[in-house]
Amino acid sequence: MTATTGFAGVLEGWRGRGVVIRHDPPTGAWMFVALHDDTLGRLVGGTRMRVYGRPEDGLVDAMRLAEGMTRKWAVLDLPFGGGKAVIALNRPLAGETERRELLARYGALLDTLQGAFGTGEDLGTTPEDMAFLASVSRQVVGPGAAPPDPGPYTALGVLAGIKAALGHAFRDPVVQGRRILVQGVGDVGRRLAELLVGEGAELLVTDIDEARAAAVAAELAGTVVSPSEALSTPCEVLAPCAVGGVLHAGSIPSLRCRVVAGSANNQLGVPADAESLRARGILYAPDYVINGGGALALGRMSLGEPDGPGLRRRLEGIGDVLTEIFREARERDVSPLEAAEERVGRILARGPSSR
Ligand code: NAD
Repeated sequence: MTATTGFAGVLEGWRGRGVVIRHDPPTGAWMFVALHDDTLGRLVGGTRMRVYGRPEDGLVDAMRLAEGMTRKWAVLDLPFGGGKAVIALNRPLAGETERRELLARYGALLDTLQGAFGTGEDLGTTPEDMAFLASVSRQVVGPGAAPPDPGPYTALGVLAGIKAALGHAFRDPVVQGRRILVQGVGDVGRRLAELLVGEGAELLVTDIDEARAAAVAAELAGTVVSPSEALSTPCEVLAPCAVGGVLHAGSIPSLRCRVVAGSANNQLGVPADAESLRARGILYAPDYVINGGGALALGRMSLGEPDGPGLRRRLEGIGDVLTEIFREARERDVSPLEAAEERVGRILARGPSSR
């Protein structure tokens, strides 16, 4: 199968606006800019850059992630549409010069879209990459030439989401004294751990990077749990902040928590896992709602909102959105994921908000 027929197979039946595809001969990379749904506004989503086995896998990722962005913007009622870009490498880049040259060509491609798609950091791209991209292209979204790290804002949104989930599950949103396990103490998880301890939680941490887990636990007076035992360790809240796909038919039966609420993208193996969690009496905070803090903050800042108390209140509002989703889910006897999907559908059907 050639790459071209591979792309055709992937694109067939996709209900997005389209995908811009460009091959980059100097590096052999493929650039995919997936434009999903602009009902609510300009298409905005991060740029992911990593090595893929086949270029089609990068295209699939771009399309799937663009759909996810449509949901994320809609559920937070922000005036953006869902898009995502993937630079699919066929090998690691040779060094900083090759990286910058590739990003410059990518920036030129984005400029040809004349503002239809704005971008920011994602897996495999850094704040430095975005600062460089902003120097060669007008399509980097965020305040100023160097957008801030979204991680701390994401962590604040997750904290608000954890409180909302505690409020729903225990009728008490207070974090103090709750046993909370943070899986993955990287950019978001470490910051979240700090916030949780600041509010008096009993912290458990796990990370495949054992030295990192030990350092965070020592600094925050937490307890390290081995990665293999993390999902079966008793706790009130499990906060997956590492990788996707942790909740599946194999892991859900062994969970010993009351709430799952964390930043990781695509936490469920398949959507039906949301029902399995519900059947076990575990409250699941849909990932694309609870992890929207970084997108919310950078999106609002790109619209001119300063990073201050108003923005903090908006981040806390992620908790209010989740509280409504949990209530709707209970009232309709569906999973929170289904309630979130219904909410997205309602907001997209309504169209751009007048706010
Ligand atoms: P990161 O790479 O900084 O941190 C991830 C951490 O997880 C690392 O410490 C890594 O060692 C650890 N890890 C990886 N696999 C693991 C495993 N199987 N078990 C335990 N630990 C493991 O990433 P991040 O920016 O903190 O993002 C964390 C998650 O949140 C990702 O899924 C990301 O897609 C999602 N997310 C991040 C943001 C953001 O603002 N950074 C926004 C939305 C969603």
